[in-house]
Formats: sequence, structure tokens, C-alpha cells
Amino acid sequence: MQERLQKLISQAGIASRRAAEEMILAGRVTVNGLVVTELGSKADPTVDSIAVDGRPVKPASQHLYILLNKPAGFMTTLDDPEGRQVVTDLLPEIKERVYPVGRLDYNTEGLLLLTNDGDWANKLMHPRHEIEKEYHVRVRGKVHQSQIDQLKNGVDLDGRPTAPAQVRLIKDGEQNDWLSITIHEGRNRQVRRMCEAVSLSVVRLKRVRYGALEMRGLKPGQHRLLTEAEARALL
Ligand code: URA
Repeated sequence: MQERLQKLISQAGIASRRAAEEMILAGRVTVNGLVVTELGSKADPTVDSIAVDGRPVKPASQHLYILLNKPAGFMTTLDDPEGRQVVTDLLPEIKERVYPVGRLDYNTEGLLLLTNDGDWANKLMHPRHEIEKEYHVRVRGKVHQSQIDQLKNGVDLDGRPTAPAQVRLIKDGEQNDWLSITIHEGRNRQVRRMCEAVSLSVVRLKRVRYGALEMRGLKPGQHRLLTEAEARALL
């Protein structure tokens, strides 16, 4: 698609749009080897070679990395046969086809990543990366130290123990306790099933951290784009 040169130069991170305009006016920008000094000029970065001072302008990455604060009541699939709301309904202005990195249950809230970069998504989900995921879990009634210890040491799920987890009591409520549980595996409904295995009934489940990423400033339903640097830092 053809875009204005100053936009392409600024998207590539070379200069602000204003400064890119000055570069064009100063005759420092070429398209397919020819100097272009007109400000309205356009080029298509997929077919034209654009250069500033003779150095090629690499097209901006077409990859999107999105951090969403998922509210309860949304499916993480892209299409629900039962017609329930899906997470991409919360991203109406994102025209690219993006998909979630892993899953959160329908009623789980919190940090969900979406992308159109399949390579990145696969790397994040690969067990080798052991990315920490922290959940806040509200459970019915009171939690005993013995239950915390069991969760920490690992409980049996489908005949295989869970890896050691970090578990601590974060809120000691009148009716319900809150736990922080940090795991790096990604087994199906893992946190809910770990809690069930030690007879704790989950009332609310929220993912609050994914590696170094948190959701600061994002209300439920809101999202922001990650920078390339933030996306790369997760790997
Ligand atoms: N563990 C669960 O049980 N559910 C989630 O949605 C995420 C982790």
C-alpha cells in the first residue's frame, strides 16, 4: 500500500514526521534511487526501495503485540459456536487478524496477550521458556498452611505432578482469602485444578503478571500495544 514518505520514515523509527519532512525537503530521501523533494510523495514499502542519506529504510514491522486486560465473560477463542462474546470483540479498531497467546477461561480475568506473530506466540508458549505467570485467586473460606504447602510442592494433575510453584496468602478476608500463585507451566485450567486438588473452591481468578509484564493503568476491557522491545524482552 502506498503511504506518504514522511510517515514511512517515522514509522521505521528514523525520525519524527516533522523531521522526516525536513529530510525530504533537504533532498536526503530517495525512492528507487531518485531524489524526492515533494512532501506529498508516496511510496509502497513492499515494492519501492526508500533510502535516507543513502541508507535503506526498513519497513516498519507489521507485527502487532497487544496486552489486554480481559474481563470475565469473554471467550479466548476467535469464534464461539454458542455465540458468546470473544476477546477480539474488545479490539474493534484492530483490523489485522490477531489471536490470543494461550488461553484464559471464560470467567478468568486479567492479562492476555494477542498477536499476529505466530513465531513469537509459539516461542512464548513453549515450555522451554518457563515464563512466570502470576495469578490472584479468591477462594471460598479460609486457606490452611497445609494447602499452601501442597500447592507449592506440586499436586497431581492427570497423573503428573505440577512443578513447584510460588504461593502466598495476600489477603486475609472475612469470608474469602486471596492467594497469589505463580506458575510457569501452562496446563489446561491449571490454577483452578490445582486449587480443586487441595479442596479449595475458586471464586475469582485473575492473571496479574506475564513475565515482567503487568497491567498497570489498564481497566478491565482496555488494552495497549506492546513495543517491539517489550515483546522481544519476554523471550
Ligand atoms: N489457570 C486456570 O485454571 N484458568 C485460567 O484461565 C488460567 C490459568
